Amino acid sequence: SKVRIYTLAKDLGVDNNRMLQMLDELGVSYKSASSTLDEDTVETIKGLIADEQANGGSAAAPAATSSTPAAEAEPAAAPSEPAATADASDDGVPHRAPVVTIMGHVDHGKTSLLDYIRKTKVAAKEAGGITQHVGAFEAKTSKGKIVFIDTPGHEAFTTIRARGANVADIAIIVIAADDSLMPQTREAIAHAQAAKVPMIVAINKVDLPQADPERVKTDLTTVNLVPEEYGGDIIVVPLSAKTGEGVEDLLEYISLTAELEDLRADPKAEFSGVIIESRVDKQAGVLATVMVQQGTLRVGDFLVVGEKYGKIKAMTNSNGDRIKEAGPSTPVQILGFSEAPTSGEKVSSAKNEHAARELVASRVGERRDAEAARQNRKLSLEEMMGSLETVREVNLILRADTQGSLEALQGILARKEKDDVKINVMLAGIGAPTEGDVLLASTAGATILCFSVTPSGSVTKIADQKGIDLKSYRIIYELIDEVDRLIKGNVEPVF
Ligand code: GDP
Repeated sequence: SKVRIYTLAKDLGVDNNRMLQMLDELGVSYKSASSTLDEDTVETIKGLIADEQANGGSAAAPAATSSTPAAEAEPAAAPSEPAATADASDDGVPHRAPVVTIMGHVDHGKTSLLDYIRKTKVAAKEAGGITQHVGAFEAKTSKGKIVFIDTPGHEAFTTIRARGANVADIAIIVIAADDSLMPQTREAIAHAQAAKVPMIVAINKVDLPQADPERVKTDLTTVNLVPEEYGGDIIVVPLSAKTGEGVEDLLEYISLTAELEDLRADPKAEFSGVIIESRVDKQAGVLATVMVQQGTLRVGDFLVVGEKYGKIKAMTNSNGDRIKEAGPSTPVQILGFSEAPTSGEKVSSAKNEHAARELVASRVGERRDAEAARQNRKLSLEEMMGSLETVREVNLILRADTQGSLEALQGILARKEKDDVKINVMLAGIGAPTEGDVLLASTAGATILCFSVTPSGSVTKIADQKGIDLKSYRIIYELIDEVDRLIKGNVEPVF
């Protein structure tokens, strides 16, 4: 019978990466650590590992090192930092917990899934203690910590990304088994793809009698996400946020994906982080949640966000406990900002107040210089020629009234690609464009083209503010003409 790679690795007490390396050495092809191996390969691997263990080789479980001559033994680990030492790579940067975001169509169960995980995987507070929502929480699993961003949906994700920060390492795309792929599912997938964040698909509501997980898997192939069991590399986990069935599997796949991504951060490095969310509390004042990405935050540190700074007066973890310091992949709520920062803003630290002020002053200076430079900027002939010669990438977001018109449009556009022009349709959606589309366009440098749908006033306004081209057409060939202009580069010289 067939055995999954990571199961075999677990059974044999070998690290997944080591297992994949062995398969590479054997010339066995696989899609991911969740791919299955045939019996012969399993036996070969078992034999190799048994040999290695007998010889005290690297794949051996720690117990086997007793046969290693003392002179070759690794120096004893420093007892004070067991976690970091056990995780340390050759260059000494320890692993960090993955940060996960949950996206998907409305009502497909994002909130329910987060609630279920929070309920079962977060240490319960004493009776009467109410844990405040701070924008993220830490789940403790048998495979270690997983941090969940608990604002479901792709708006939070994209708002953060629109500011140039990436906070999520893995995106869970929740799809209800009784509804399959819906417009926001496609959007969520487009956002994760644009951010190059690995995806895991959670097919939710499998407890329902009308659940049809197979249909979801087939539908996924229509957006080029091929489930692993169909020979692709997308991990699909059937589950129920209601009964909890399958949720443990999802957590395991998250840890597995994190392990393959080899996420690391140095708690001793200079601090950097991102604002997850902030709010103003009538009593406490400004409370901002920061995700520590690198380094360690300590009470008393000075933080700089954009052109503002503040001193950390108090910190609490996502469980509401007061803490003195926080390392990588920890969401912490911070008291000490004088104004509410915006989610997605990057946070850095300064040694003291003087250094914080200097950093702010230099940022103000840089911004003024950049503004001045932009005003004085003229396109030189050389630059224009250069931009005409390079391979062009035309990034588009398409919005249309029906699936039929979308497909027709995509068909025509596909035929317009040339050797030196690549057309990337970042998202093709039914219905009017959303704020999320504008944010996606702004991070991806895309043009939004609408066919037979009318953008709302607020979306048009945001597009204006962000300088995004948002155009609407009623006649398909006018839209195609616009694409032709974009393909040509449409560099109108400004003299
Ligand atoms: P969201 O909009 O994606 O956050 O979806 P919610 O979590 O609010 O769920 C929408 C509805 O589906 C609610 O009525 C939930 O109780 C229900 N729901 C969520 N997960 C499941 C599930 O696994 N099974 C069943 N039967 N219902 C579910």
